[in-house]
Amino acid sequence: MTETAPVTDETATVTGETATSTGETATATGEAAPVTNWAGNITYTAKELHRPRSLDALRAVVAESARVRVLGSGHSFNEIAEPGPEGVLLSLAELPPAIDVDSAGRTVRVSGGVRYAELARAVHRHGLALANMASLPHISVAGSVATGTHGSGMGNGPLAAAVREVELVVADGSVVRIARGEERFGGAVTALGALGVVTALTLDLEPAFEVEQYVFTELPREGLDQAGFEAVMGAAYSVSLFTDWGAPGFRQVWVKRRTDQPYAGFDRAAPATEPMHPVPGMPAVNCTAQFGVAGPWHERLPHFRAEFTPSSGDELQSEYLLPRASAVEALDAMAGIRDAVAPVLQTCEIRTVAADEQWLSPAHGRDSVALHFTWVADTAAVLPAVRRVEAALDPFGARPHWGKVFTVPPAVLRERYPRLGGFAALAGELDPSGKFANTFVQGVLDARG
Ligand SMILES: Cc1cc2nc3c(=O)[nH]c(=O)nc-3n(C[C@H](O)[C@H](O)[C@H](O)COP(=O)(O)OP(=O)(O)OC[C@H]3O[C@@H](n4cnc5c(N)ncnc54)[C@H](O)[C@@H]3O)c2cc1C
Repeated sequence: MTETAPVTDETATVTGETATSTGETATATGEAAPVTNWAGNITYTAKELHRPRSLDALRAVVAESARVRVLGSGHSFNEIAEPGPEGVLLSLAELPPAIDVDSAGRTVRVSGGVRYAELARAVHRHGLALANMASLPHISVAGSVATGTHGSGMGNGPLAAAVREVELVVADGSVVRIARGEERFGGAVTALGALGVVTALTLDLEPAFEVEQYVFTELPREGLDQAGFEAVMGAAYSVSLFTDWGAPGFRQVWVKRRTDQPYAGFDRAAPATEPMHPVPGMPAVNCTAQFGVAGPWHERLPHFRAEFTPSSGDELQSEYLLPRASAVEALDAMAGIRDAVAPVLQTCEIRTVAADEQWLSPAHGRDSVALHFTWVADTAAVLPAVRRVEAALDPFGARPHWGKVFTVPPAVLRERYPRLGGFAALAGELDPSGKFANTFVQGVLDARG
């Protein structure tokens, strides 16, 4: 369904001003200063940053610009949001935020700039919940589902699995809605920002639930076969393993147990005796409550507290999803390169993600295990380790997280997404001139030429 309406000129254009993607405001200083991502490893080269204050103003910017990319909360680690020097970067941070909960229908319609932390609080006030969350609640909803962002859980798909409708401002400035059940919905959510500006999403909700979080230490790798691995990861609603690859075994196991589901406990490792942070040596004060203290879903499913907002990050991240059935073989392959990985690694998190139907989802069509790497903040030092990881995981058909550091060539990526042709066709339909295609997206699509 397509709507059109007159466009107006109500937009804040930031050119040559101080603005970072992590701050909500652009501060005019009269001096040119770069716009960067959260980690600071990407400086956007866009000629302008627009912060429209109304939907009409946003539509006008889109209609009048030749090249546009949206910047969400800037938590990606690569050039996925980069429009290039001739392009426009669009922030939705000054659009009126909307979170409209339909309690009876158990859905919420959320506007394009809203972050999970504020969404979760609002939903919880209505006695409702999202099925899952990522480790950090400060990421934007639209940006997260665009890249296939996920939490953990044998039965939990990526965050995009909750989306039932997407509203987009497409290249000509018109509004398009695509709902679950339509054929093209498969390409509409995890879309890398390539179809248009996501101005709203409608998500499924469920009744609010409570979660107890337990952390265990020093789970031995020895003797953990595929069945054992699946038993560990299936011990509760959401389970994460952490290792530094410095030695065999897992330094920490984070177990998030829903109190409305059976739980047999976890006896494969010792309970932690003090609050833990996933990165060894970091203070746990910013982490969500542990030691089995029951609390609301949104205060336990993320690893990090919503009240603590890290404005920037001293880290880089990579992540690869591969078939869950290959998890233990992949862990063995990783053990073979531990000497290349450990020196530049802060921590590695292993999660599970249930298969979903989004064509460009890294979990598309396969129950997956996700190997995540929090690296030191040194691109030159990290890239050789990234390449070693990619070579080790290549035999398993690993798909990189779209929002993190990777070097897998586009030709290989294309082989790993059987529905990529359908996505390219949808992008061609909604964005025939390639207004929303940057170098990153173009490399993946290729077919659009
Ligand atoms: C500390 C930290 C923890 C993280 N934890 C996890 C985790 O637990 N699990 C996980 O899977 N990932 C995780 N990530 C990665 C993160 O979830 C993704 O990079 C995600 O895309 C970030 O959302 P964003 O809004 O910041 O995206 P941005 O980097 O701003 O944008 C990402 C993409 O989305 C597009 N986009 C954003 N908003 C819109 C919109 N309104 N319309 C159209 N396109 C849009 C952008 O153009 C870009 O292509 C983490 C990142 C950090 C920094």
